[in-house]
Amino acid sequence: MQLNTNFNEALSTDLFHLIRETSSDLGLKTYIVGGFVRDHILGRNKLKTDLDFVTIGSGIELAKALKRRLSNTGKLSVFKTYGTAMIKYDGMDLEFVGARKESYSAQSRKPAVEEGTLEDDQNRRDFTINALAVSLNRDDFGKLIDPFNGLEDLKRKCIRTPLDPVITYSDDPLRMLRAIRFASQLNFEIDRNSLQAIAKENKRMAIISRERVVDELNKILAVDTPSKGFLLLDEVGLLEDILPELTNLKGIEEVEGQTHKDNFYHTLEVVDNIAKTTSNLWLRWSALLHDIGKAPTKKFSKKVGWTFHSHEFVGAKMVYELFKRLKMPLNEKMKFVQKMVFMSSRPIVLAQDIVTDSAVRRLIFDAGDYVDDLLTLCEADITTKNPKRFERYHKNFHLVRKKIDEVEARDHIRNFQPPISGEMIMNKFGLSPCKEVGMIKEKIKESILEGDIPNEFEAAYSLMIKEGIALGLKMIEE
Ligand code: ATP
Ligand code: MG
Repeated sequence: MQLNTNFNEALSTDLFHLIRETSSDLGLKTYIVGGFVRDHILGRNKLKTDLDFVTIGSGIELAKALKRRLSNTGKLSVFKTYGTAMIKYDGMDLEFVGARKESYSAQSRKPAVEEGTLEDDQNRRDFTINALAVSLNRDDFGKLIDPFNGLEDLKRKCIRTPLDPVITYSDDPLRMLRAIRFASQLNFEIDRNSLQAIAKENKRMAIISRERVVDELNKILAVDTPSKGFLLLDEVGLLEDILPELTNLKGIEEVEGQTHKDNFYHTLEVVDNIAKTTSNLWLRWSALLHDIGKAPTKKFSKKVGWTFHSHEFVGAKMVYELFKRLKMPLNEKMKFVQKMVFMSSRPIVLAQDIVTDSAVRRLIFDAGDYVDDLLTLCEADITTKNPKRFERYHKNFHLVRKKIDEVEARDHIRNFQPPISGEMIMNKFGLSPCKEVGMIKEKIKESILEGDIPNEFEAAYSLMIKEGIALGLKMIEE
């Protein structure tokens, strides 16, 4: 792989020159570190918007001075307790920190922090590829400082800790997830010693806040091939603590010669499939969770073999429990995932069968605005290894999408509003609210969805009268 270690062009902007001058005027030494350096070397820096700077001395002092020179164009926030400062400038987040030495003790999760040298600061960083620094100082502007051979690891595509991995991961267990996240984002391998250390220390993950865990999970889900991260999480024993709903899907059982598919690996295939067609995070979560109801509903019956009756309903309820446990927001995103899980088997039935107008109308009626997302999920759900079937299902989905457009243009089922209101029915027959009103409304809705009458006032009105009479109701003459 071609690595780019020349920073001249990348650092030739006014901003970097201003940082150099400001730092120099204050008599400080400043370096850019972390993701910017790593991604520049890898040639994936195009969209980098968060930049991390480390200063020997006070990062806050540098940030304040820089802000003054940027006059009105930047927004400064100072986090005194952490010794950091951030400037939002020109769509970027510029993070400033003073070089520090950290020492962890077994008694406390928070490290003791003291001022340190650049080398101390590089020592406290999680991975060799994240510990690379580039000088922003006058005398050696643009020089790469790489004490742990991070460059070699970038070449080898390897995630490795600068210090003993057992200590690194035990000190801050979030690093275990970060290792897996970077391996997924960069398509790197995690060093064998690191993997062993993570497997050994995995129970320490429990001390990390759920929010930070979810942040990393979201980043893993956002990559091109998310299965890589979930397989790694599984391999080191983290997945069964974080998302037991998924590990419970593992395995193939056989009774009387009948087997079912391994729903864990199937799920990961679905997630990889959907990642090719959408970057919608919540749709990706839906793919990840679409089959979780299969573990608790699995049954074997002599007649039909393996069944997972109402796994969609059970799965949707599990989504709520899972979001709550991980302290994810219980808002409309969660409801969206629930809805996707709940409806996840509906279109596939269509795709396997003859696609009738009424089935399509019912699908639009039930899925509402989410019908496109639902189809995206269900197409990703096609993981059959039988090429003939694969082709047939995809063809049918194509047909379903076409039919949806046709039917919707004609019948306007999306966000269905009944053409006859309960009030009209009550007026026509002189009723107060009662079960007959509901029965007539239901009959009209069903007739529209079935295609027995069009979704129009006239037809619905006639049907109302016919139904009313059939129920023995008397019309009020106007
Ligand atoms: P990204 O592209 O995701 O921003 P990044 O490497 O810049 O990647 P950040 O989370 O922005 O990651 O952190 C900046 C730098 O701070 C890292 O490169 C790493 O050197 C250091 N760092 C961040 N979190 C940790 C941690 N938990 N332990 C040790 N070092 C860390
Ligand atoms: Mg960063």
